[in-house]
Amino acid sequence: MTLNQLTIDELITKERELAAHYTEFQRAELRLDLTRGKPSPEQLALSDDLDHALSGDYIVTNNIDVRNYGGLEGIQEARHLGASLLGVRDEEIIAGGNASLSFMYQYLLSAWLFGPLGPETAWKREKGRLKFLCIVPGYDRHFTISEDLGFEMLPVDMNSDGPNMDQIEELVQMDPLIKGIWCVPKYQNPTGYTFSEDTVNRFAKLGKIAGQNFRIMWDNAYVVHDLYEDSLNLPNLMDRCRSENTSDSVIMFGSTSKITRAGGGLAFLAASPKNLQFFKKRLAVQMIGPDKLNQLRHVRFLKDLDGIHSHMRRHAEIIRPKFETVLNYLDEGLADVATWTRPRGGYFISVNTPNGTASESVKLASEAGVKLTPAGATFPYGRDPNDSNIRLAPTYPTLEEIQKAMPVFVASVLLASIRQCIKNLQGDSS
Ligand code: PMP
Repeated sequence: MTLNQLTIDELITKERELAAHYTEFQRAELRLDLTRGKPSPEQLALSDDLDHALSGDYIVTNNIDVRNYGGLEGIQEARHLGASLLGVRDEEIIAGGNASLSFMYQYLLSAWLFGPLGPETAWKREKGRLKFLCIVPGYDRHFTISEDLGFEMLPVDMNSDGPNMDQIEELVQMDPLIKGIWCVPKYQNPTGYTFSEDTVNRFAKLGKIAGQNFRIMWDNAYVVHDLYEDSLNLPNLMDRCRSENTSDSVIMFGSTSKITRAGGGLAFLAASPKNLQFFKKRLAVQMIGPDKLNQLRHVRFLKDLDGIHSHMRRHAEIIRPKFETVLNYLDEGLADVATWTRPRGGYFISVNTPNGTASESVKLASEAGVKLTPAGATFPYGRDPNDSNIRLAPTYPTLEEIQKAMPVFVASVLLASIRQCIKNLQGDSS
């Protein structure tokens, strides 16, 4: 039975029961954290052999000594590994440092100031406020980058097969000041949804209808992060762009942050050779070369795409039970109140509580010792217009911690929802 079907007296009785239950959680003085999508220590330990991967052998293709300066694009071996990960050609990728986010920031800044394809294409020459499309709910750090650079952010709704493409096509056709769109095409952060064949095909055509020098920021952070053997297949956007003659419209990103070491991995930027040529000019001003030692460590440790997939299976064994435990608690406790996604991979579960209750639920959970990602974080400017979306990150806490945290989460959402129903009913009758 849904809350809306209960009478006010029934709701008040239920609220009292729940509030008493909630007070018990408060007394337990829990200190649990379901906020950021970080790998657990057990996952990090899977890559400890990175530390022994070099053993005094520092020479790679073309007799390059990885201990020395140089090699702006990264070593050939690391580029090849990244190319197989992101599904591009070796000449379409550069291997960099430890953060794909830095590549994203650098790319947008350089497109704005210096032009994606040379000075005459610089976004700064356009008259009017530049805009960026943001799929919602989405990844907060993408939104922070756009906000920091001064873009106006325009939200686009996410569905289970990708964003609302009708809306995107209409917007980019109408407004040439829209310079790009953020995408996490596989196991999206936070919904866990993967873009469908039709969605990817339509993305490949965007470059033809958008304003000049429009760029799709294709952040494939979770490309190999399957929880189950029957992994979802993400169609290859670069291949489709080649057929449509729109290769310049896409910039791809990825990293091994959640394959090997978070903040100690290897980041990639992939793009058409023309795009890369201009981006590398900017990169050359900022550095002499990336950390090739870490690149080589990764190549020796992961070896190839098969090596990456078998490594990711070990991650899945650790985190799959955590996702399933979270889902069990949601199924049992919130079936009539909220909705949520059931990801087949990635790092997050996205929960939608009744409109107007997400911040209150997060506040209640926090007051009972369970920290959650702030409500609104999954929307531009931190403002969820429906105050409904909450992102859960099950990977870092232990299974035991999840088993303690989830009853608190469920009780907090129920309490916030019931209190809202009571308020609405009392408001109606006054
Ligand atoms: N993109 C997405 C979608 C992410 O979820 C994350 C990590 N939370 C990142 C990028 C960060 O990647 P990196 O460590 O390579 O900067």
